[in-house]
Amino acid sequence: MEPKDSNCIFCKILAGEIPSAKVYESDTCVAFLDIAPVNQGHVLVLPKGHYPTLMDIPVELGGNLMDALSRVGRAVMEATGADGLNLMQNNHEAAGQMVHHVHFHLIPRHSEDGLKLWPQSSYDNPDEMNRLTEAISGLLK
Ligand code: 5GP
Ligand code: ZN
Repeated sequence: MEPKDSNCIFCKILAGEIPSAKVYESDTCVAFLDIAPVNQGHVLVLPKGHYPTLMDIPVELGGNLMDALSRVGRAVMEATGADGLNLMQNNHEAAGQMVHHVHFHLIPRHSEDGLKLWPQSSYDNPDEMNRLTEAISGLLK
């Protein structure tokens, strides 16, 4: 039995309580148009189960999600005549997550759409880069 959250807007969409413009469904995943698209044809891909963030998804769902992203991504690009496609995914409010049911944004991109991605920075010194390398890799041993 998949986890559900009765207060979650995406669980309500999955239960048919709120309408959506659904473009794809498999046993484990669905995809529908984002109601406030960055570009026309912006689609959200999500697991049917309610998992709050990327870090909560059971590992066996990963392949299903990747399959859905690839299939839907191809269809979004072809249907919109896009030149490119961004995959975006926000976790926790600090990163811009508004709906706490994990989902992946597929955003069709056009060469001249003028959309800017986030600004990048640099490391002040190699020590800081080394410290972070050790800190992250140490947690993965
Ligand atoms: P987040 O910021 O959590 O990564 O993205 C949530 C997305 O869900 C937003 O882009 C927002 O426009 C979309 N959204 C919120 N409520 C609804 C809804 O009721 N229906 C649909 N189709 N999209 C929604
Ligand atoms: Zn949910």
